[in-house]
Amino acid sequence: MPIESDLIITIDGPAGTGKSTVARLLAARLGLDFLDTGAMYRAAAAIVIDRGIDPSDIEAVVETVADADLHFDWETDPPEMLAWLRPMNGRIRAADVTKLVSPLAALGELREHMVRKQRLIAKQHPRLVSEGRDQGSIVFPDADVKFYLDADPDVRAKRRAEQLAEGGQCMPELDVLCDEIRERDERDMSRPVGPLVCPDDAIRVDTGPLTLTGVVDLLEAECRARINA
Ligand code: C5P
Repeated sequence: MPIESDLIITIDGPAGTGKSTVARLLAARLGLDFLDTGAMYRAAAAIVIDRGIDPSDIEAVVETVADADLHFDWETDPPEMLAWLRPMNGRIRAADVTKLVSPLAALGELREHMVRKQRLIAKQHPRLVSEGRDQGSIVFPDADVKFYLDADPDVRAKRRAEQLAEGGQCMPELDVLCDEIRERDERDMSRPVGPLVCPDDAIRVDTGPLTLTGVVDLLEAECRARINA
């Protein structure tokens, strides 16, 4: 049964825990919208690469990303990320974008811009499952239900490899993927602004032993129990 009231659910966690897919499926089950904030940082990285901007030129980065007017087309599933009204979903999962996104996401000024945008999106879509790294800690500290998804890095590397294979992308060795994931986590967790943390009031879920459906079932049950309570 869809939920009628306004509701913000946050899902945070490291790379490869299946957050995006879980968030999308959970949103569909509960009749909510789904916000992939990683897509916004990825779009920023793609813009910086494709426009030849120096990533250390913070002013140019923020100015150009602001000019791109990043927003989603909510009519598509998953919502298409748009920059200058042009679709970005086909570009933002490429290896060069994945390499740059984490260092770029450490820029405080860029994060301020993104946090503002994400809160604005929640005003327009107040029934939302939002996933990322700082959704429960910084962007929506008063969210109704917060989750933190985790899994062993080896498990996450395997999942990422399956995802890349499904998307028809060339697949690096598993241990290379695992190292990349560890490095990205380390960066995301250690940056001074908006680091990846598990909020105190989040429900922590080890997705390692669970199937995708198992994770979504668990999260849905938690949400319904809390809302009913
Ligand atoms: O979730 P995804 O792998 O698409 O995120 C890509 C990168 O974007 C993360 O590694 C992180 O550096 C950054 N990110 C972030 N804050 C968010 C979402 C993503 O810093 N809320």
